[in-house]
Amino acid sequence: MTSQESEATSRRSDKINLTKTDKSFIKSLENLPGGEALKLCYQCGSCISSCPVAQFLSEYKPAQIVRMAVYGLKDELFASRNIWLCSTCYACLERCPEGVRPADIIRAIANLAFKEGIVHIAFKESATNIVNTGKMFEVPEIRKKKREKVGLPKLPEVNIDEVQKLLKSTGLEERLSNVKKVIESSEEKKSE
Ligand code: SF4
Ligand code: SF4
Repeated sequence: MTSQESEATSRRSDKINLTKTDKSFIKSLENLPGGEALKLCYQCGSCISSCPVAQFLSEYKPAQIVRMAVYGLKDELFASRNIWLCSTCYACLERCPEGVRPADIIRAIANLAFKEGIVHIAFKESATNIVNTGKMFEVPEIRKKKREKVGLPKLPEVNIDEVQKLLKSTGLEERLSNVKKVIESSEEKKSE
């Protein structure tokens, strides 16, 4: 059996368990900006063929995430790392013939997951860095010296008090301290 045939067979054997449907989850998504056209998706797959992440990662399929959202499979979606992988390039929005907004739907699902204390490790670390330093990543000294060597200006200092004041109003720090489940991919676990 070719790999395409075996993928098709495994797709056919995938069962959708509608007893797991969460109707209030579907409603929440439809009420969020970008979620209005959720149910218009007819699984043409254009979003998958336009998606740069899907080209590198065969398990990542925006159309599948949209389908699972239509079925209200909240728990499966919240347990998947895929909802954290969208690069928000918006190619899927440009190509969708039905005006569905997969990128917005995926972001909305991730936001709802974070509200319930579930977050991908990379997002948790980036957000924690921002809370603590005002920066997503600390630039190593060696890079700063290299910049200086090639005549680039010094990196601007961050006014951490201002950043923290702003973040306080968003409740980000509180959300981070209420994280119940951190999503990690198998690759990330292996590299520990
Ligand atoms: S392009 Fe639009 S209609 Fe087609 S599968 Fe993706 S979301 Fe659904
Ligand atoms: S916005 Fe996200 S889902 Fe849409 S094409 Fe870009 S990476 Fe893929």
